[in-house]
Amino acid sequence: MPMWTLLGQEHITSALGKSLALGQLAHAYLIVGPPQSGKSTLARDIARALNCTEPDPPCGGCHQCQRIARGLHADVQVVTVTPDPDTKRLRTVIAIDQVRELEQRAALGPYEGKSLVFIIDGAEKLHPTAANALLKTLEEPPPRVSLLLLTSQEGGLPPTIRSRCQRLELRPVNQEAIAQTLAQRHSVAPEDASLLARLSGGRLGWALAAARDPRVLEERQQLLDTLLEVLESGLERRFQVSQELASRASRDRAGAQETLALWLSCWRDLLMLKEGAPGLVANTDWRSSLDALAGRYSAQEARAVALELLASMARLDANASPRLALDVLMLSLPRA
Ligand SMILES: [Zn+2]
Repeated sequence: MPMWTLLGQEHITSALGKSLALGQLAHAYLIVGPPQSGKSTLARDIARALNCTEPDPPCGGCHQCQRIARGLHADVQVVTVTPDPDTKRLRTVIAIDQVRELEQRAALGPYEGKSLVFIIDGAEKLHPTAANALLKTLEEPPPRVSLLLLTSQEGGLPPTIRSRCQRLELRPVNQEAIAQTLAQRHSVAPEDASLLARLSGGRLGWALAAARDPRVLEERQQLLDTLLEVLESGLERRFQVSQELASRASRDRAGAQETLALWLSCWRDLLMLKEGAPGLVANTDWRSSLDALAGRYSAQEARAVALELLASMARLDANASPRLALDVLMLSLPRA
C-alpha cells in the first residue's frame, strides 16, 4: 500500500498511483488549492513517490522517503520568494535569477535519488521574465527532472505556464474527516476538533495550524472585530482599513484573500440564519454577533454583500490593484 501523507484527496492520490504504476507521471504539475489545503504536502508526496526505492511508492519508510519527509534530500529543491539581502524583507516576486539557478541545477540532474524535483511554491509570484524563462524547462525538462508548481491564485499565472503543466486541484475535505483526524491523530479535544473543522472551510492544514497555535484563532477574532467595526464606521475609517489591508495584500495576497474569505463565510452564515437554517452556520462561536447582524440586515442585503466579496476575491485573484479592489468593497458594504 502506498503511504500518501495527503489526506482526503483520493481523486488525486488514486490518479497519481495509476500514473506511477504505468511509469507515466507528468514532468510538470500545477497543484492548485487555497492556502493550507495540502499543496506542499502533496508536492512532498510526489517527490517521495518519484524517489522511493520500494515496490509501492511512496512507502514512507525507505531511506529516500524519510530524507524527503525530513527536508534533507539534496534532490528536492524549493523555490519561493526570498528575503531581500539588503532590507531583509520578503520580496514580492520570484526573480529571474532564481529561475536561472534552477536551470543550472536541473542540468546537473539528481545527486542522491532517482529524480530531481523542484517545488515552486507560490508560482503566481513568478515575475513575468522569470515565468518566461521557465517555459523552456517546463516544456522539455532534462531527464529525471520534475517541476511542481504550487498556487492558491491560479489566475495570477500566465496561460503559457498553465498549459504546460498537468493540473491537480485540491478539494475541500469534509468536516467530519477533519474533526476525526484532529481528534484521533493529534489528540485535540472532540469539541475543539469539531469547531476547528467547521471553521477550516475544508482545509486540513489550516485546522492543524489552528490546533497547534492559538494565534491563528486570535487573528481570526481580530478580523471579525474589524468587520463589525467597518460596518459601524463612515467612509474615512473604511478607507483606512482598506489601506491597511491593501498594504498587507501587497506583501501577502493570499493573506488578503483569507481575510475576505472569512468575511464571506460570515455573510453566508447570516444568509443561513435568514433562511431559517441555523444548523448550517459555520462560525458557531460567533453566533451572538451573527444574531445581532441578522436583526439589522435583510437576506437580500446579505446576499449582495456575499456577491460583492466574491467579486473582490476574483479581482484580487486576477491581479487587480489591492487598494482599488478593497476600496470598491468598502464602498459597497451597507452603512448603518
Ligand atoms: Zn519509500
